Amino acid sequence: MDIQQLADAHIANTYARFPLALVKGQGCTVWDDQGRAYTDFIAGIAVCNLGHSHPDLVAVLSEQARTLWHVSNLYYTGPQAELAAWLTAHSFADRVFFGNSGAEANEAAIKLARKYFKDQGAPERYRVVSMKQSFHGRTMATLSATGQEKVRKGYDPILEGFDYAAFDDIEDLSCLVGPATCAVMLEPIQGEGGVVVPDKAYLAEVRRLCDETGCLLIFDEIQTGIGRTGKLFAYEHFGVTPDIMTLAKALGNGLPIGAMLATEKVAAAFVPGAHASTFGGTPLVTAVALKVLQILTEEGVLEQAAKTGAYLREALMRLKTKHAAIQEIRGMGLLVAARIDRPAAPIVRACMEQGYLINCVQDNILRFAPPLIVTPEQIDGLMVCLDKVLSGADKQR
Ligand SMILES: *Cc1c(COP(=O)(O)O)cnc(C)c1O
Repeated sequence: MDIQQLADAHIANTYARFPLALVKGQGCTVWDDQGRAYTDFIAGIAVCNLGHSHPDLVAVLSEQARTLWHVSNLYYTGPQAELAAWLTAHSFADRVFFGNSGAEANEAAIKLARKYFKDQGAPERYRVVSMKQSFHGRTMATLSATGQEKVRKGYDPILEGFDYAAFDDIEDLSCLVGPATCAVMLEPIQGEGGVVVPDKAYLAEVRRLCDETGCLLIFDEIQTGIGRTGKLFAYEHFGVTPDIMTLAKALGNGLPIGAMLATEKVAAAFVPGAHASTFGGTPLVTAVALKVLQILTEEGVLEQAAKTGAYLREALMRLKTKHAAIQEIRGMGLLVAARIDRPAAPIVRACMEQGYLINCVQDNILRFAPPLIVTPEQIDGLMVCLDKVLSGADKQR
């Protein structure tokens, strides 16, 4: 039996996978079980920001694997403490809670927001306002926060206490935020919602609304963080800081790690026994995550991502002038999308057949999230591929 048959026979059928079994990766290239190479413009869904098998990460991982993998949070470990110190030194936050995924980081954020007001003697403040078209994860609390019917479908009753505002619409949000609201939770740029960049002033207006009403602001930077938008965190583009921020995806460059960061004032609600995770922040993953952040900030990767991101968007704009199918190019840094006038899945499939991995969100949006080390030459290659694929699609119509 080959890999696909074995998987289809035994793995829970929750994924609509491409008929492609990948066996190896290096930099921005992955190889299938037939030895065919693909240039990776999705990077494990904005995860492998430093590419596949980065030699320095392999070295740190190997060294830590020989030293200490896991001892639980009954004890102190060096890499976890160092990673938390790094994250707080480079962000608005003072304290970090480590989990293993984005959903767990958001779960911690929601729990912390509720507990913060319970501790203040305001238990009636427990509601979270999140956004329509948002994505926050698949656990019961995070799917309840997710403003997409397709994610919640089949799991009723969802958790009580979630309201959904239209994204990038401060009027709609102000109608929903009230005395029962503990937090407003949003992605600075909606990822799964279709790479939606809000108006430059929007996040500052949200911050002001939260301050006026006394509720907390949670930024889900699980997809936008760790250099994806050309800065370490997307909030830096908007000059606004949250009270709580969640990270995961690229933090471990593919090792599972999630983190919930908060200010001292808010984090004080998490006392011993209030929250926990067996695997949260193991020496193995935190040693790698620290190295990820050092490479990102000390080797010019952030600046490179900003530059190649602009190059990618400009190249797509040129393609747009040639193909009427492309309606809009949007994004920031190397989180980029092209909205097209037709279903995106056949285009994604055709690109794969041409040796380029991209993906689609919201049916008609092509998403590009390559490793941040992608080169202009690799982007040029993708443009030749997209040009060819879109020309074929034009003919079929
Ligand atoms: C991917 C993602 C999540 C969920 O992360 P998991 O690790 O899959 O649980 C949450 N929020 C955003 C914005 C994401 O992109």
